[in-house]
Formats: sequence, C-alpha cells, structure tokens
Amino acid sequence: MGYKLTGRKTIDEKSIINIGDAAVGSEQLTMIAGPCAVENRDQYLQAAFKLKQIGVHMLRGGAFKPRTSPYAFQGLAGEGLDILAEAGRLTGLPIVTEVMDTRDVEFVARCADLIQIGSRNMQNFELLKEVGRTKKPVLLKRGLSATINEWLMAAEYIMAEGNAKVILCERGIRTFETFTRNTLDLSAVPAIKQLSHLPIIVDPSHAAGKWDMVAPLAKAAVAVGADGLLIEVHPCPDEAMCDGGQSLTPENYASLMAELKPIAEAVGRQFSFKQKRASGKQGLTHFKFARQG
Ligand code: PEP
Ligand code: MN
Repeated sequence: MGYKLTGRKTIDEKSIINIGDAAVGSEQLTMIAGPCAVENRDQYLQAAFKLKQIGVHMLRGGAFKPRTSPYAFQGLAGEGLDILAEAGRLTGLPIVTEVMDTRDVEFVARCADLIQIGSRNMQNFELLKEVGRTKKPVLLKRGLSATINEWLMAAEYIMAEGNAKVILCERGIRTFETFTRNTLDLSAVPAIKQLSHLPIIVDPSHAAGKWDMVAPLAKAAVAVGADGLLIEVHPCPDEAMCDGGQSLTPENYASLMAELKPIAEAVGRQFSFKQKRASGKQGLTHFKFARQG
C-alpha cells in the first residue's frame, strides 16, 4: 500500500503548518523547547519566560508522562494543563504537550496548540484516529523501533480522519548501543523528505539522553535538513523530576541558538528569532556553552 495522503504527489510538494509565529516546513527553522514535564507553576513559568526571551517559537512540557516505571512521576495531569495554558497566555507562545489516552484527547486539545503523540504510542491506532478527528496539529514522534514505513503509516491514520496537520519527529531509535539512550537516525530526515510532503523535526534530547551531546546532534540535524528542533530545557536540570540528564540550561540553549545560525543559513534556512536581551546584568544570548551542574 502506498502513502495515499502522506506521500508526495509532486517533487516539490511540501506541507507548511502554521502554529503561532511558526511556519513548520517552510524555510524557517522552528524551535520548540521546554522541560520534559510540568513539575509545578514556578518551574514551568520560569522556563517559559526564559525561553520566550531567547526567542523560541513554541513551548513544550508534559502533563501526562509515559514513564518506564509506574512508580516514577507520572505528570500533573489536569493541573499541569492549567499551568501550560497559563504559560501560553502569559508568553503568547503556542503549547506542545502529549496525550496518552483517547479519553483525554478533547481535554488536552483545549490547551495544546500542537498535540504530541509520544514514541510509545506511535502505533496506538485508536489514539491516532482520535487526534485525527481534532482540528489541532499533531506532532507524531517516531516509535522506539518503528521503521520509516510504519511511521508514515501511523501518520496516514491521522490524515485519513481528515487532519492534514501532521509534523513528524525523529527522536532516536532502539539499537544495540547503550552509551546513548537511543541512536539518532538522521538518515530519516532526507528519507522522509523524499517520501513525504510532511515536515520533519528532530529531538536530539531523547536521542542522546545526555545534555552535552544535544548541541552537536542539533547542529547535525539542521545541516541534514530538519525543519525544526525539539529540545528539553529546564531552569535547573539537576533538580528535574524527569530527564534532567538530557536537559539543557536556558543559558546553554541560548548559546546553541547562536551557534546554529551559520549552519541554518548555510543550508538555506531563515534564522530569525525575536531574541530579547535579558533584563539582568548579562544577556542570555551572551553566555558561553558552559558545563552544567
Ligand atoms: C517527551 O517528549 O518527553 C517524550 C516522552 O518523548 P518520547 O515519546 O520521544 O520518548
Ligand atoms: Mn523527556
């Protein structure tokens, strides 16, 4: 079976998905950042304001967290969505958050501007159909062991319900390697570009699992043609309840943004961010990429 809806019909067919100030899939590089999970109001708003100042297009943060252990922090659920909605109102930035259960889709869609389907749910077909019935854009992460064919077929499930606003996200796949959390499959970027008109962004945070590998992988992703980056940023990674070891500080994220500029421009991307100087002694964009923790 071919890719009826996700496949390219013409060589230069390209879907552009507008969310807030972002045009995902256009010449512009889309930057999405935020903590893995919404932990409390202070933590999230602190992250949100810093990221707004740096100039990101969208804020991420999980209210429902898919955790390996049932005893690990599972997210704040409804309270987390309220905090996300408040952060969205205060910053004016669109919110990206995950839904894990068909029963929560309507609820999550009220707060999310971009609904995330996590890796572990890439082939949860009922969930794909349910988000397909909303009008909201969907961020479809690649499954832990999914082939590119299975991933595009998962996108077909969403599109077949009438929702054409699908953004793919490569976040690393399971291999025999254990030094990194996953193996970032950057070949998926040109492969998806050949097969599909859908935008593809890269999440180097969940791929590497290590904060100091995030910047080099982010640069490589931009060089290979990714339409954007999804990166975990926490105001204090050492205190994070989830994925602290792979989270950048806002200062290191700001440095990475500056370092991405020549790479983005070299591959024909527009790199225009509404960066604002921090009100403190030193502008966030002037920090060097320093060791954390
Ligand atoms: C996340 O984005 O926090 C997440 C859980 O990602 P993934 O589904 O890629 O593991
Ligand atoms: Mn995470």
